[in-house]
Amino acid sequence: MRATLMHQAGDVRIETVPDAAIRQPTDAVIRVVRASICGSDLWPYNDMPAGRAARPMGHEAIGRVEAIGSAVERIKVGDLVIMPFAYSDGFCMFCDEGLQTSCQHGGFFGQPDPGGAQAEALRIPYADGTLYPIDAPADEELMASLLTLSDVMGTGHHAALRAQVSPGKVAAVIGDGAVGLCGVIAATRLGAEQIIILGRHPGRTALAREFGATEVVGERGEEAIDRVRALTGGVGAHAVLECVGSEAAMATAVGVARPGGAIGRVGMPHYASVAGGLRSFYGNLTVAGGPAPVRAYIEELLPDVLEGRIQPGRVFDRLVDLNGLPDGYRAMNAREALKVMVRP
Ligand SMILES: [Zn+2]
Repeated sequence: MRATLMHQAGDVRIETVPDAAIRQPTDAVIRVVRASICGSDLWPYNDMPAGRAARPMGHEAIGRVEAIGSAVERIKVGDLVIMPFAYSDGFCMFCDEGLQTSCQHGGFFGQPDPGGAQAEALRIPYADGTLYPIDAPADEELMASLLTLSDVMGTGHHAALRAQVSPGKVAAVIGDGAVGLCGVIAATRLGAEQIIILGRHPGRTALAREFGATEVVGERGEEAIDRVRALTGGVGAHAVLECVGSEAAMATAVGVARPGGAIGRVGMPHYASVAGGLRSFYGNLTVAGGPAPVRAYIEELLPDVLEGRIQPGRVFDRLVDLNGLPDGYRAMNAREALKVMVRP
């Protein structure tokens, strides 16, 4: 089968690899119906050193179940499924608590084992715990929104929950990438009264407004902090969604949070320690977040997607096949494309 491998920064190739196959009785194999490039895939695209083992890419997908192991009970061959970016057994204490990204037998797709979703097919460990079967018509627009439940929409929702968004609050969203835009949807959905998006890309901030953002701040650093303060009666936002993962974004997040506020960080951190230590201490800030347990959120978000109340699939602005994937990486990295969908 064909799959996407990252060899080093800037070098993504589509190669022939051994077919995905059942290895454990709890496995399933899916035929990938749709996959996508994640903002976090761009980190290795920019900085993966040469000389390392090639890394299979892709952790967001909708698939059709092609085979199941002998111990799989809930998932059936032929099911259309959402594949969360992390696999999880569905029975350990963390899965019970709805924190599947800390599953005691879990792990992440887009690693040498079990492989990546930017491929024709993929082995799914713990299929019963991991996959979420959906009964949906094959509608392109709907498919795009369903695909976001495998990562970006669930991740934006996680940022909003960790930032303690609730009705009437002021939210600030750092980043106008797909996760930031989904964070705007989530903050709107949870009842935030004022939603300020910090981003500089006009097309994306326009979409953010359609998703419910009330103001756009295009400045950076201390200037951005001053602007957000000015928009919030001088005090800052109750809830800050940090959807980038850079040190500068985290420093801005701490700077725009009002005393007693909370920051939900979901951008894959590219820093060793959290910025703004003194500021967050004196502000009594809660800094929370991490990899979103999107498996836990599908149940809650799916009805809104199926009934059209939210349309997170609008973050996709390019569709490619496997051959078009390397150019999809280039386009996303150059910010020509907001988010690329793959139809293998
Ligand atoms: Zn578990």
